[in-house]
Amino acid sequence: MKRRTFLDQSSLGVTSLLIAPHVLGCAPKTETQAVIGKSTPYVISTWNVAQANTIAGKALEEGANALDAAVAGVAFEEANIQNTTVGKGGAPDRDGNVTLDACVMNHLGDCGAVLAVENITHVAALAKDVMEQTPHVILAGTGARKFALEQGYTPEDLLTDSSKKAWEKWKEKGNYQPEINVENHDTIGMLCCDAKGNLSGVCTTSGLAYKMQGRVGDSPIIGSGLYLDNEVGGAVATGLGEEVIKTVGSFLIVELMRQGRTPQQACEEAVQRIIKKQKGKPDFQVAYVATNKKGEIGAYSVHSGFSYSLYKNQNNQNIESNSVF
Ligand code: ASP
Repeated sequence: MKRRTFLDQSSLGVTSLLIAPHVLGCAPKTETQAVIGKSTPYVISTWNVAQANTIAGKALEEGANALDAAVAGVAFEEANIQNTTVGKGGAPDRDGNVTLDACVMNHLGDCGAVLAVENITHVAALAKDVMEQTPHVILAGTGARKFALEQGYTPEDLLTDSSKKAWEKWKEKGNYQPEINVENHDTIGMLCCDAKGNLSGVCTTSGLAYKMQGRVGDSPIIGSGLYLDNEVGGAVATGLGEEVIKTVGSFLIVELMRQGRTPQQACEEAVQRIIKKQKGKPDFQVAYVATNKKGEIGAYSVHSGFSYSLYKNQNNQNIESNSVF
């Protein structure tokens, strides 16, 4: 499985490493944004996550609310051990611990998050439980795990044989080089619009492969990996979390849309905000997908190879994003 080295890779020809194969089954790249009818439910997700998107889309078509649909959709990838970037089977930290991060946000502006949770597969559902069952927004580490067990979640060993083998191979070099995952799937950020026109979203990840123990990226941070305002729209992020956090990327996109930018313009401006602080071509990927209340969609990334999934009217497509490089 291809994974992308994330830091200190300039000598390795980073551009070619960052370009995903043109075999993603993507629709052709287009400058125009997709426009969707207001009351038609739809789902957008980072990367090519057809099954997760379709599960969420079908749930919406059957009348589920946007948040329940999103949590159900991402649960598919959280349980999929072939996906080494989300949930069970996710790559461990450099000490061999699989720690998961997730957050949720609903149309009322309520949100919940769990950080660095071990042994629990469905962390998006757990983040929703934090939102609904506690007076808090964030639970981290052992406290989040304890809460999960109290809620009846079954503890599982999240380190699969193949993830363990890959980690052991990584350790042979002995360098601290966390890896970014730029494949046709990765951290899932998913935004759902239900039949009532309400938006909700979820972001779930195992974070950077071989990260330092305790490292948390943007994905479970409300405003960074996910943000939405039901009056304006929503945005989700994937890529190097440290850069997304520094610019509070998803919040920035929603605020730019509030000021009148289209989702496409807002995603581009948020990526440029990151790029302009770099000296030369960055050796990392960051990508955003956003939607507004008109049902317009935008996506943009630092490097090519990013795509997003769109489910609408019983049809799922994978659409290639434009990028700076
Ligand atoms: N954003 C995630 C993180 O920084 C990683 C990713 O999307 O690949 O933890």
